[in-house]
Amino acid sequence: MVAVESPRIRTQSSTTTREQILIRNPVTDDILGHIEAMTAEQVQAVVARAKAAQPAWAAHPVKERCRLLLKWADVLWKHQDTAIQRIREATGKNAFGAWEEVAVLDSIANYYANHAPQWLAPQTRRSVLPVKHTARVYYKPWGVAGFITPWNYPLLNAIQDMIPALIAGNTVVLKPSEVTPYVASFAVDLMHEAGIPRDVVQLVYGAASTGAALVDSVDYIAFTGSTATGRRIAARAAERLIGCSLELGGKDPLIVLADADLDLAASGTLVGALENAGQVCISTERIYVEAPIYDAFVTKIIDYAKQVVVSPAEGMEIHMGSLTNDRELERTEAHIADAVAKGAKVVYGGKRRPDLGPRFFEPTILTNVDHTMKVMTEETFGPLVPLMKVRDAEEAIRLANDNEYGLSAAIFTADLRRGEQLATRIDSGDVNINTTQWTFGTPSLPMGGVKNSGMGRRNGPEGLLRFVRPQSVLVDNQLMSKPQLSLYSPFNIRVAMLLRRVRRWLPMLRI
Ligand code: NAD
Repeated sequence: MVAVESPRIRTQSSTTTREQILIRNPVTDDILGHIEAMTAEQVQAVVARAKAAQPAWAAHPVKERCRLLLKWADVLWKHQDTAIQRIREATGKNAFGAWEEVAVLDSIANYYANHAPQWLAPQTRRSVLPVKHTARVYYKPWGVAGFITPWNYPLLNAIQDMIPALIAGNTVVLKPSEVTPYVASFAVDLMHEAGIPRDVVQLVYGAASTGAALVDSVDYIAFTGSTATGRRIAARAAERLIGCSLELGGKDPLIVLADADLDLAASGTLVGALENAGQVCISTERIYVEAPIYDAFVTKIIDYAKQVVVSPAEGMEIHMGSLTNDRELERTEAHIADAVAKGAKVVYGGKRRPDLGPRFFEPTILTNVDHTMKVMTEETFGPLVPLMKVRDAEEAIRLANDNEYGLSAAIFTADLRRGEQLATRIDSGDVNINTTQWTFGTPSLPMGGVKNSGMGRRNGPEGLLRFVRPQSVLVDNQLMSKPQLSLYSPFNIRVAMLLRRVRRWLPMLRI
């Protein structure tokens, strides 16, 4: 066992005893180091530095901020092997899953660098009194944006929303998960190496109390994590009247219609359910299969499950690695036990794999499931594939919507038009047709939840514009202006009445 303590992670020494958090490799149980939870005073000091640095950062042209973020993306790309190694030793995920974090982050940086200058440019809007009034909107950063992030995508989830926040002119303070802090510190070190000033991007370390102190200090809070924590953060943000966005949990449905290609649907279902061993907010967690193909689908998916390679080994051909925490392992087992007690059958897998590591679990397929079982109603965050037979598409849509969450969803069908029509009837932030999770991998598409899956959107123009406050400026050009004691002069009243009549017919004059 190698005990390596990263000097970057250690906080200043203090006479008071602070909470020590050990960081472990979930596959080997080696200790990677420890962090000391930062106090509220320390967090406030970090935020004060970020506040002081913000005006100078915002004074850079948007293109310059984009250039620095692109430079960082290039540095990260160059160091991707180290990034993958850090992610793997922190989470136990497979190499391909770790590479995906780097790849998606890279495309997000490129996307915003390409579009942000246009979206952040002042916009001229139509005015009620054309020519006399010029109306414009300016997009100004909030100030200091805080980020609180989870452990399951310790690089991607920690950094992805910081990119638009920084481009928009905010400075940033990130509190990564206490389970995986070294991955975030690695990425932030590379940002500094790429030329982004130190006080523009800073980290604070710790768990709940450090996160709460951050919410209490910043001008905007972007949270990714569980619904329970999200609620607490939203309540505090409401008290402080600061903006917040919440990317929370999910229980994503996948519907297989009778006309679907069974091979593509069965293998695609496993990809959606087993990515990162099921520890994904947009994991496929419940599958509804139309009755005519149900039996054939079960046979097919078991065939494909037998080909899934689960291993701690290096190599992009490994499909699934370890779970990260005991909590998820125990919840996975509890959901299986609850389902079996209520009549479900485990038709594939169902057991731990201690021969591979302490937190490995087999891809597990369950049949005979229904909505009385936790496995079909509560977020599992493990490699479970519960299959439920449904009469038809109508029943599938009804059951898909019968859940407290609404993050992502998927439909497999040969009829693409019908698939898209059905998609719009699912209460979720996004829907994939004949694939899973690609909505998230497409930076132009807004991503986020409805119901208990959160509020606000990341990615797309929406994911940038949440980090700015629009400021409207109206200029009276003083054409034919005379001193007057009301907002409308008699002349302007006549102009307004005339415009009201002609606007219906002259689109160029419409507001
Ligand atoms: P969590 O809510 O336990 O922790 C998330 C972060 O919040 C951590 O950094 C933690 O230290 C911090 N935190 C905990 N209590 C806090 C408090 N009272 N005040 C401020 N900060 C606090 O979640 P987790 O276990 O790290 O992550 C798993 C959850 O995250 C799952 O539910 C998953 O679905 C969700 N998730 C959602 C998305 C998304 O995009 N919607 C992405 C990844 C994960």
